[in-house]
Amino acid sequence: MSQLQIAIDGPAGSGKSTVAKAVAQLLNITYLDTGAMYRAVTYAAMKANLSFDDETALKTLVDDIQLDISPKSIQLNGEDVTEAIRTPEVTRCVSDVSKVGYVREKMVILQREIALNQPVIMDGRDIGTVVLPQATYKFFLIADPVERAKRRMLELESKGFEASLEVITEEIITRDKIDSEREISPLMRAADAIEIDTTHLSIDDVIRKIISLVKVEK
Ligand code: C5P
Repeated sequence: MSQLQIAIDGPAGSGKSTVAKAVAQLLNITYLDTGAMYRAVTYAAMKANLSFDDETALKTLVDDIQLDISPKSIQLNGEDVTEAIRTPEVTRCVSDVSKVGYVREKMVILQREIALNQPVIMDGRDIGTVVLPQATYKFFLIADPVERAKRRMLELESKGFEASLEVITEEIITRDKIDSEREISPLMRAADAIEIDTTHLSIDDVIRKIISLVKVEK
């Protein structure tokens, strides 16, 4: 029988990563945070002082990049960038880098390779629509933008960053707009995805809901 593939998509701060990580642990399957891959490319482009409009330079960059993603850490060309890719600066720029076609092509190839030989749960923006269109289960998480900004603010504060709710709400709305309106694989609910509004749900509620819907064949 075919491998179990679970796709979790949704806008920024909808709870995808936390939920996907927990479901992966409960089902003992591999978790892939595809956002981390786009963040790592963005970090590399910023470090190399590239202009995000310079598609040729970005192409060379992704062709040479060595990405190692595990649930615990992200290594970029041998450098541990697990924390560095979560800074507000990277977050502000990531949507401009991830709309570049060549960058997406390369990341999708890597993502599909990971899903080839093992059961996976992946979270992102285009998993159910483009990366794994035949996924066994597809979920699309949504939540009110202010609720999402509150979650992001708590996350940033726990890492020692100063954050204002207004600024974060604004940034989340801008990022969703770029992600949803880009030409190539925009943020979109797959027609066969189950939508879960997490605005008034706890993380545990969402995890329970997903687990109750997923049947694991032994
Ligand atoms: O999930 P996270 O918020 O870390 O994603 C960061 C950014 O990476 C998104 O705002 C989006 O621009 C990009 N992304 C994407 N496709 C994915 C995952 C993330 O374009 N599958």
